[in-house]
Amino acid sequence: MTSDVATIAGIDAPTGLLIGGQWSEGRAGRLPVINPATEDALTDVADASPEDAIEAVDAAARALPLWAARPPRERGECLRRAYELTVSRAEQLARLMVLENGKALRDARGEVLYAAEFFRWYAEEAVRIDGSLTVAPSGANRIMAIRQPVGVSVLITPWNFPAAMATRKIGPALAAGCTVVLKPAKETPLTALAVAAILAEAGVPDGVVNVLPTTRPGPLTEVMLGDPRVRKLSFTGSTEVGRVLLKLAADTVTNCSMELGGNAPFLVFDDADIDAAVDGAFVAKMRNGGEACTAANRFYVHEAVAAEFAGKLTARLAALRVGPGLDEGVDLGPLVNADTRAKVASLVDSATRDGAAVLTGGQAPKRAGYFYQPTVLDSVPASSAILSEEIFGPVAPIVRFATTDEAVALANNTEYGLVSYLYSRDLRRCLQVAEALEAGMIGVNRGVVSDPAAPFGGVKQSGLGREGAHDGLLEFTETKYIAVDW
Ligand code: NAD
Repeated sequence: MTSDVATIAGIDAPTGLLIGGQWSEGRAGRLPVINPATEDALTDVADASPEDAIEAVDAAARALPLWAARPPRERGECLRRAYELTVSRAEQLARLMVLENGKALRDARGEVLYAAEFFRWYAEEAVRIDGSLTVAPSGANRIMAIRQPVGVSVLITPWNFPAAMATRKIGPALAAGCTVVLKPAKETPLTALAVAAILAEAGVPDGVVNVLPTTRPGPLTEVMLGDPRVRKLSFTGSTEVGRVLLKLAADTVTNCSMELGGNAPFLVFDDADIDAAVDGAFVAKMRNGGEACTAANRFYVHEAVAAEFAGKLTARLAALRVGPGLDEGVDLGPLVNADTRAKVASLVDSATRDGAAVLTGGQAPKRAGYFYQPTVLDSVPASSAILSEEIFGPVAPIVRFATTDEAVALANNTEYGLVSYLYSRDLRRCLQVAEALEAGMIGVNRGVVSDPAAPFGGVKQSGLGREGAHDGLLEFTETKYIAVDW
């Protein structure tokens, strides 16, 4: 397969590298894209080499001066058209995403609309890049501060939200006047390439957005970060890879934004509305099949309500229909690949060896595809590995607690700090606990926090910087201070 476009399930999808507005072959050959529901290859796409990466940086650097100089309104209007095109193609994009990622069609449809919203939000933010003018305390001078685009930006995205993680970076980068090289995960290049094609159709000039699928992310990123024209790295992925990239970026002091892993605690207090807590727990756990950095990873439930909560959550998970994501009525598709499923299975097995009780699930069904049953584990010992590692699958471990202090201490006992959830009817307790929890985001009586207009990001080893909101735009700008004497 060498053509630039493959027709997959009736959908035409670009399969080349996008460099300087041209679809091209990669110097490293082709890489297969696997359907996780069947384990078969769907198609293949061009595989970029480090030489291709330098060409992409050349293209982004050439396009930068003109794009940065385009009136903010015009940059915003390109993003607005991209929003409209994404919404008008939502069903095709969702289906393409299901085929390469595995998620259920309902989740994919939700993601496409969420992804489109980043284009709409940053179309609006493009015209709100402010600065400041103040009087020096001495009264003698004026202090003028303006914001300029940081420059050529390398964007690296994971496979779990292949559209939204790309638009959450491309939207603010383009609004700020930056040009980008996007390196999607090798599992989900088709969605990223389809998003790039939409941006081109929306009028984004050649070279402003370049896309490089690759099987060799390390050497590719190393050569780009070593190039002095690259001034920004925006990464979403695991904490493990984030640490490697921060060290690499240190050599060239490249500006970094890092959206890394999570280990979200979900706290249910004795005064919570249990039905509402189960609804919230269900979505916090099962959105995207559990393959989300925001997924509730550990359920800490007060001992007085634990049995009721566990019973109701188990009934919800046990009723889910598992199958290929494109099948109507399927609630839970396969995991993305064999490694992800093996990790989920090994965490569940070690928790049961530690003494956890399996309330439902606990196994991979015997069929083709990387499926894993929705699983609830009760009475999980505090030392179990499943409470300290990201599960990234449809598994809900429950731990009982007795006091609020104990719950907060358990929740904070992790190097991660992306999001925490809590359920209680007592507003005073909600706010006190929300302040005590070490996380960048807190869901109070809510199981979802993501919103393009909200500052998304973590503390501790869950990341640096924020995406979404106005904050996400500022990540792609540099402040310049102009000392003025007049
Ligand atoms: P990953 O870290 O393995 O890969 C993420 C990206 O980094 C991929 O594009 C991959 O190709 C690339 N990569 C891998 N090794 C690299 C290297 N040496 N140099 C440069 N790039 C490299 O993560 P994943 O398995 O794709 O995604 C799951 C992880 O992403 C989870 O830890 C999840 O919590 C995290 N995540 C975080 C957020 C957030 O906003 N905080 C959002 C989604 C996912």
